[in-house]
Amino acid sequence: MKKWTDKKWTPEILTDLVQWLEDAYPSEGCGLILENEKGQWRFQECENVADRYHKVDPVTFPRTSREFYMIDPREFMRAEDRGEKVAVIVHSHPDVGDYFSPEDIAAALMPRSSEEEKLEPLYPGTDYLVVSVRKAKADGASLFRFHEDNEKFARVARLNKEELRDKVSSKAVRAETVA
Ligand SMILES: [Zn+2]
Repeated sequence: MKKWTDKKWTPEILTDLVQWLEDAYPSEGCGLILENEKGQWRFQECENVADRYHKVDPVTFPRTSREFYMIDPREFMRAEDRGEKVAVIVHSHPDVGDYFSPEDIAAALMPRSSEEEKLEPLYPGTDYLVVSVRKAKADGASLFRFHEDNEKFARVARLNKEELRDKVSSKAVRAETVA
């Protein structure tokens, strides 16, 4: 498995997203990692709009933010308007681990009209980061990527609890010191 060595995964990016996702607990939290023209990354916090859709139409959207995430489609349009590319779609799994669920896979693929049609990603070139959060603490993160050859998403990198703590600790410790 590929090591977590890409320079863009800075402690700042990881700290920003981990704090946002821990704050969302016990709901699923979500956000986008956006890349500017210079290739720099930043984390964009996004509201999980699952509850809003559930409230309006519980038949079509039976699941709440406790087990489901939805990013407002306008977040993607706004990023495009700013000239930013969605590099990674991020969400958390409260208490169930950092795996890519059947629902996650379905949401990441283009809808098909028949079984014979090729499986294609909804956002080509965009990866998915799933962060496991237990008792409001992130304890693992996995990156998933679509592979054209077998038309499947596969885990391409993983940070365990210690590796994740190690990367987010510096800023978190500073925040604690200030408080
Ligand atoms: Zn998920």
